[in-house]
Amino acid sequence: MLIEYIVGLSGLIAAGLFIYGLKAMSSPVTAVSGIVTAGYGMVFVVGATFLNLFNISPDARPHLLVNVALAVVALLLGCLWTGWRGRTVQMTAMPQMVAIFNGMGGGSAASLAAVSLLSDHATSGLHLSVTIVGALIGCISFTGSIIAWAKLDGRMRKPVRFGGQRIFNAALFLIALVLGALTVMQYATPQGVLPGILFFAAALLFGVCMTLPIGGADMPVVISLYNAFTGLAVGLEGYVMGNPALMIAGMVVGSAGTLLTALMAKAMNRSLTNVLFSNFGDTASSAKGPEGEMKSADPSDAATSMRYASSVIIVPGYGLAVAQAQQKLYEFVKMLVADGVDVKFAIHPVAGRMPGHMNVLLAEAGVPYDMICDMDDINDSFATTDVALIIGANDVVNPEALTDKSSPIYGMPILNAYKARQVFVIKRGSGTGYSGVQNPLFFQKNCTMVFGDAQAVLSKMVEAVKALGTA
Ligand code: NDP
Repeated sequence: MLIEYIVGLSGLIAAGLFIYGLKAMSSPVTAVSGIVTAGYGMVFVVGATFLNLFNISPDARPHLLVNVALAVVALLLGCLWTGWRGRTVQMTAMPQMVAIFNGMGGGSAASLAAVSLLSDHATSGLHLSVTIVGALIGCISFTGSIIAWAKLDGRMRKPVRFGGQRIFNAALFLIALVLGALTVMQYATPQGVLPGILFFAAALLFGVCMTLPIGGADMPVVISLYNAFTGLAVGLEGYVMGNPALMIAGMVVGSAGTLLTALMAKAMNRSLTNVLFSNFGDTASSAKGPEGEMKSADPSDAATSMRYASSVIIVPGYGLAVAQAQQKLYEFVKMLVADGVDVKFAIHPVAGRMPGHMNVLLAEAGVPYDMICDMDDINDSFATTDVALIIGANDVVNPEALTDKSSPIYGMPILNAYKARQVFVIKRGSGTGYSGVQNPLFFQKNCTMVFGDAQAVLSKMVEAVKALGTA
């Protein structure tokens, strides 16, 4: 009775900590404390889960597969591995790390379902059906996230597509559903575990097949969707195991993931169906590349233009993170501001390789939050701005997304940097962005390229402004 009470209370405390943590994560100022708070919430959930093992009635015990020692070993291994990866991962490799961690969550939910089925733990048809639904979602999230990880990590460079793929996938999903139903029915009159095994195999395979054709540029939305799936699966399995803390944790993660998925899809101006079933992000564009030539200038010329401008909007992108040039950039910005230039940062919601990537990068460099503007708030200002400085960004400023219906990125909202009086672009060469399409902005009359690694170029720009002296 006391244990039941403590477990229930832990769930409630965890829910409070999760909700508070999520709220804090919505602002860069409080994001770190939000993550730590949600981490404490997870400690309550894990503690309650272990405590819950003592709550199992002695009659049920022989039917349950419970091995506390194994669970502790798994917990230790998980903590050590994730702790090490979290500390050592490169900022640019965060999305694939998130994908694989998320996949582990889905796999855990599916494993819980398998244990529940093998343990003869189900008490009713409803209980069993929930177990199967949770297992299906968990399996899809597990293998789907592994494919997403392989794509983001560059191990799988092209989407895998073949004729009749959608019909094949739909048939596979149907087969998984039928096997799931058979598993539920056979449970009443046990005739072996074959339907269950086939059900798990079909569900795992469906996760792979569903993710294979999705283009790389859609991966942010897909990871977020699988995150929602994992939360839902964990919540359902929490119900199955009679663990309120797990139920609440899963539902909070599931709803947060669903909201994030909707926001990401909106930021890319796409519906979820379009993300899952269209060919956005193919690296081969059928369109002819833009015509004309790119003009280029020295870092010192670009720096001088900005030093004498009255307003500059900076668009950071993935290349800034690759070059780890955020500190140098802020050093340059501080010099401009000291000289009376009005400087703002414009953040596209999918710039970089993970949601909030650019905010994290700029926060790391100590850029004040009031200099950082979201796309919707700043987009109208480009037309009246002297200079737009694009650093390692490409897709997020590609005007083809607004005008070219044949473009694979058509429909994605962009930062209107092309409207500024003068545009400078820092990048290493004429390489394309993540979606693989060339950017006509770089060929525009008002655009000048400053070729080189962002760190090296910004260092030269800082030196150039220093040489000019203060105004
Ligand atoms: P892009 O990937 O479109 O472009 C990055 C540019 O940076 C490249 O053109 C590259 O050109 C340049 N670059 C690379 N390294 C350096 C360097 N060391 N110094 C200077 N420049 C460099 O980035 P964006 O941020 O514009 O767009 C993000 C894209 O990633 C979108 O398509 C988005 O959908 C996708 N995505 C976003 C995720 C998210 O959650 N934010 C997750 C996964 C994908 P060059 O090689 O010539 O230097």
